[in-house]
Amino acid sequence: MKPEAILKQLAREFPEAGCELHYKSLYQLCVAVLLSAQTTDVSVNQVTPALFAHFPDVKSLAEGELDVIEKDIKRLGLYRNKAKNLLGFAQSVMNNYQGEIPQDIAQLVKLPGIGRKCANVIASEYFHTPALAVDTHVERVSKRLGLVSKDASVGQVEKTLCKKIPKERWIDAHHLFIFFGRYRCKAKSPLCMDCFYKDECREYRQRQKKDLKRN
Ligand code: SF4
Repeated sequence: MKPEAILKQLAREFPEAGCELHYKSLYQLCVAVLLSAQTTDVSVNQVTPALFAHFPDVKSLAEGELDVIEKDIKRLGLYRNKAKNLLGFAQSVMNNYQGEIPQDIAQLVKLPGIGRKCANVIASEYFHTPALAVDTHVERVSKRLGLVSKDASVGQVEKTLCKKIPKERWIDAHHLFIFFGRYRCKAKSPLCMDCFYKDECREYRQRQKKDLKRN
C-alpha cells in the first residue's frame, strides 16, 4: 500500500489523532515532552499539574530545588534523571536564551533532555513546523506497515518517512502512527483481526504461523 493510502485509512480510523499531553504553554509542552520518555502520556498528565503549580514558568523551574522536582515527578520511571534534565533544561533556557525557549529544532536539541524526537514534537506541535518525530510507536508501525526496512535505525526511519510522505502530511502522519501503535498495532498484542493492513502484513503472517505451530 502506498503511504498516502495508509494515511487515508488511518485518518478514517483515528479522526481524533493528536497530542495527548496536557499543556497550556510552550514551557508546559516542553516539560511534558521531556517527561514523556519511556512512559505514557497518561502518566505524565498525572504529575504535571502539581509540577506546574510549584514551577509555573521556566524561571521558577531554573531556580527550583532538585529534590522538590523529584518529589513532584516521583511516580514516573527514570524520575531522578528526568528531574536533572528539567533543571538543566530550564537553566539553559535562562542562561543561553534569556528565558525564551527557542523555536528552532537545531537549538532545541541542544537543551538538556531534549533529543531529536522531543525537538521535533515541540516544533511541530507548538510552532507547526513540518517535522516527523519518530518515537517507539512510529518506528514500530512504520516497519510493520512496510514503509521502512525492519532493520532501519530511528534516524533512517525519520529520513525514509520524510522522503515518502509529503511534507504537509508529516505532522498528521506522526499523530496517526502514534494512535495506530497505541490503540491497535500494539507492541505485544496487536489487534490484527479488523486491521485494514492484515492481508499485506508480514508481522500478522508471522504471528499466524506461530499460533499454528502452537496449536
Ligand atoms: S495486521 Fe496487526 S501487526 Fe499488522 S499492521 Fe495491522 S495491527 Fe499491526
